[in-house]
Amino acid sequence: MIIQRVVLNSRPGKNGVPVAENFRLEQSTIADTVQVGQVRVKTLYLSVDPYMRCRMNEDTGSDYLQPWQLSEVADGGGIGVVEESQHHNLAKGDFVTSFTWPWQTAAILDGDSLQKLEPQLVNGRLSYFLGAAGITGLTALLGIREKGHVAAGANQTMVVSGAAGACGSLAGQIGRLEGCSRVVGIAGTDEKCSILVQEMGFDAAINYKKGDVAKQLRELCPGGVDVYFDNVGGDISDTVISQMNQNSHIVLCGQISQYNKDVPYPPPLPPDIEKIQKERNITRERFLVLNYMDKQEASVLQLCQWIQEGKLKVRETVVEGLANIGAAFQSMMNGGNIGKQIVSISK
Ligand code: NAP
Repeated sequence: MIIQRVVLNSRPGKNGVPVAENFRLEQSTIADTVQVGQVRVKTLYLSVDPYMRCRMNEDTGSDYLQPWQLSEVADGGGIGVVEESQHHNLAKGDFVTSFTWPWQTAAILDGDSLQKLEPQLVNGRLSYFLGAAGITGLTALLGIREKGHVAAGANQTMVVSGAAGACGSLAGQIGRLEGCSRVVGIAGTDEKCSILVQEMGFDAAINYKKGDVAKQLRELCPGGVDVYFDNVGGDISDTVISQMNQNSHIVLCGQISQYNKDVPYPPPLPPDIEKIQKERNITRERFLVLNYMDKQEASVLQLCQWIQEGKLKVRETVVEGLANIGAAFQSMMNGGNIGKQIVSISK
């Protein structure tokens, strides 16, 4: 059977900025027959995520991520529908997902590697299982629960960087649902800031590309910062940490501003900021959602419940067509998305 697939065409280099041309669309084939234990799936949605930047390097610098190989098909979070099954637990028409879905229009996969999805849990919005009801939502929820030390009634102020992105937009809302009394976002455009406040219930948002971030933060967080959900690292994080309270907490979710640089993860803080962190006893522990997968089932149900109740507002930026996945990745790495970046595969 003839399919389309996307392979890694070239590497951006450890300090390079990734571009769409690092990926290549090509025609390929998959077997005509499905073996026992396997299913043939048609791909419906693929996810592009910042962590993929390190998979573009020859060495990912991490023990839990493998590099993509040149001229080999790329993979990541994906959702599809079973079209033919030789697996005891999966039937034609079932919707399934995996973290290692190949970037191709159809595939033959090991049925045991797939999780079955229940679309009614997300009001039929299947792609949410790659975002708000998937690894992104889990990252926001478990990051806050495991590292945020949020306590209802404690009058805490939370700041979120990368706030209009997939994780950030959920993290601010979840911070509020878990009990923070004030939530302030930091994002890169006025449109994003307006969506955070008007749609997602943030108290305020700062456009970090305009004006003095430190000054705005002082005005918007008069009691200091108690919880910082950090998606970006770099200068923005140094500014926020400078205004954090004694015994406060950083959720070290990601450091996207550093991903095109050849630095260790997590990147060390500059000496003056590290001094503040130590003197004020601010926790900054590494957080990796994959370490909490024993909490996946209950947490996904919680996220789905909030989505159904309208308590968690979800935004997606959807790009159509496998041919555009490289461009979608490039755009996402440059902040072109609002909420979760999804690639929809209709053919
Ligand atoms: P995302 O949707 O792309 O959001 C990230 C946002 O960060 C972008 O929309 C962009 O918007 C902003 N950004 C990009 N470059 C920036 C820069 N140089 N300085 C400041 N802001 C910048 O990505 P995501 O899926 O939400 O992921 C967010 C972070 O979480 C990433 O660092 C990712 O690696 C991490 N993550 C961690 C885990 C974990 O287990 N710890 C799991 C999933 C994701 P604007 O610049 O326009 O604001």
